[in-house]
Amino acid sequence: MTERNTDHVTMKSEQVPVVADTDVVVVGAGPAGVSAAVSAARNGCSVTLLERYHHLGGMASGGMVLVLDDMVNEGNEVVTTGVVNEFVDRMAAQDGAVFPPPEDCLTSMEMWQKWSRWGCIDFHKTGHPQPIIHAVAFDPDAWKRVSLDLVKEASVNLRLHSWFSDALVEDGRVTGVVCQTKLGRQAIRAKMVIDASGDLDVASAAGAEFIQGQYIVTTVFRLCDVDTDAAEAFEYANPEEYKKLDRQARRIIGGAWGMWWLKTPLPGIVWCNCPHMPGYDGLSPEDMVAAEYEGRERMMNLLAFARDNIPGFENAKMLGAAEQMGVRQTRLLKGEYVVTKDDVKSRRHFADSVCRGRDYYTPYRALLPKGVDNLIVAGRHYSVESEAQKMSREIPPCMSQGEAAGVAVALALNAGSALRDVDARAIQKQMRAQGADPGDVPSANALVEEKAEA
Ligand SMILES: Cc1cc2nc3c(=O)[nH]c(=O)nc-3n(C[C@H](O)[C@H](O)[C@H](O)COP(=O)(O)OP(=O)(O)OC[C@H]3O[C@@H](n4cnc5c(N)ncnc54)[C@H](O)[C@@H]3O)c2cc1C
Repeated sequence: MTERNTDHVTMKSEQVPVVADTDVVVVGAGPAGVSAAVSAARNGCSVTLLERYHHLGGMASGGMVLVLDDMVNEGNEVVTTGVVNEFVDRMAAQDGAVFPPPEDCLTSMEMWQKWSRWGCIDFHKTGHPQPIIHAVAFDPDAWKRVSLDLVKEASVNLRLHSWFSDALVEDGRVTGVVCQTKLGRQAIRAKMVIDASGDLDVASAAGAEFIQGQYIVTTVFRLCDVDTDAAEAFEYANPEEYKKLDRQARRIIGGAWGMWWLKTPLPGIVWCNCPHMPGYDGLSPEDMVAAEYEGRERMMNLLAFARDNIPGFENAKMLGAAEQMGVRQTRLLKGEYVVTKDDVKSRRHFADSVCRGRDYYTPYRALLPKGVDNLIVAGRHYSVESEAQKMSREIPPCMSQGEAAGVAVALALNAGSALRDVDARAIQKQMRAQGADPGDVPSANALVEEKAEA
């Protein structure tokens, strides 16, 4: 982790223009932030959504993370519905999403050969072939378009090119945010703030407790002009030879999950969710520069190897690396409840569960900071232990957190109450009304304990 500077300058005090006065400001327009903004707006709030970049989607578009995972519990029970389904349906209608029909979700070699290179397998199961499950391969630009459509239709006040820099806090209550723009600093006053920055920028600036987490970072990239039919035919006809080449490829890229290339909805274009680069601090500009150099060198080495050795990749070219560095974990909230690895692994159910992913449940308390009012978080920086976050940070559950946070702020504003006084049962009820699964009803494989239910 990079040492922070000890040399400082003192800034002059300044008058910052107020550019919006809103019920809710959402900081960060990734999967969690867009879901939160749309959910709050649909529940009657005026909403301003701030994003530092020119596009919506965070890791799902700029980060080019192109498979929606952790959507199903055992038995292919789909648990991330609501706004997640809206994204999938809308992207599919634009040929921007591919997923197996329920009848293909089986454990068989035939289905493995049909679906595994789309990433629609249960990575948590060992053995071969792994089960085919409901997961969605999608196109990053389709994600951007759908995000923009949803935000516009919900009349959210969108402010791009606006980099959050300060939280406005009075007597322990957040009253708005300040962001940096090309026009200088701008303030947004808000009754409620949703931190969906992924790095806990707002909550940490507002004085909320957090832990400093860290995990591997990745310069995700795509290759074009790949003959995926030829590559798959070779793999299935020559499994041992393919495995040998694959091992070499993975050594060259330096760390990858089970499959280093997956198909995308665009023919001939594959995405590569690698390399794995440990030891970098996703908050540090210096570390991000070093990771950029390292990742790009590794990906070009892999391309050269694939072109020379792997059937189907002879004409492959570098389409490009993701616009955003793939940062998985930085600051994590230390909120009203901290989700543990044991909670996730044991599938512990919580009476105040407001959303879920795969086979785990997220209590409302894990979205609430301690000691700071009018603030809620949604997304990968929620209140969770570092090891537990690594198992519970996929895109769909982050979206469900956002949807629940949007409902929570609307309920608090309607009742004129503090966020921590919102009854989780009211959130669950509204989530159900929106078609989302809040996890109020534990699945058959959940661990239901009185302690967690208290
Ligand atoms: C390399 C990699 C591979 C992954 N693989 C998968 C996978 O296969 N399937 C899966 O489902 N998940 C995967 N994940 C996890 C998933 O992508 C993230 O956990 C998820 O995108 C988190 O969503 P989020 O909205 O919380 O955060 P992010 O997606 O990080 O979005 C945060 C948003 O906030 C904005 N923002 C940040 N700071 C500021 C600021 N100061 N001011 C204004 N805006 C700001 C960002 O620009 C961004 O738009 C992967 C992640 C990585 C990095």
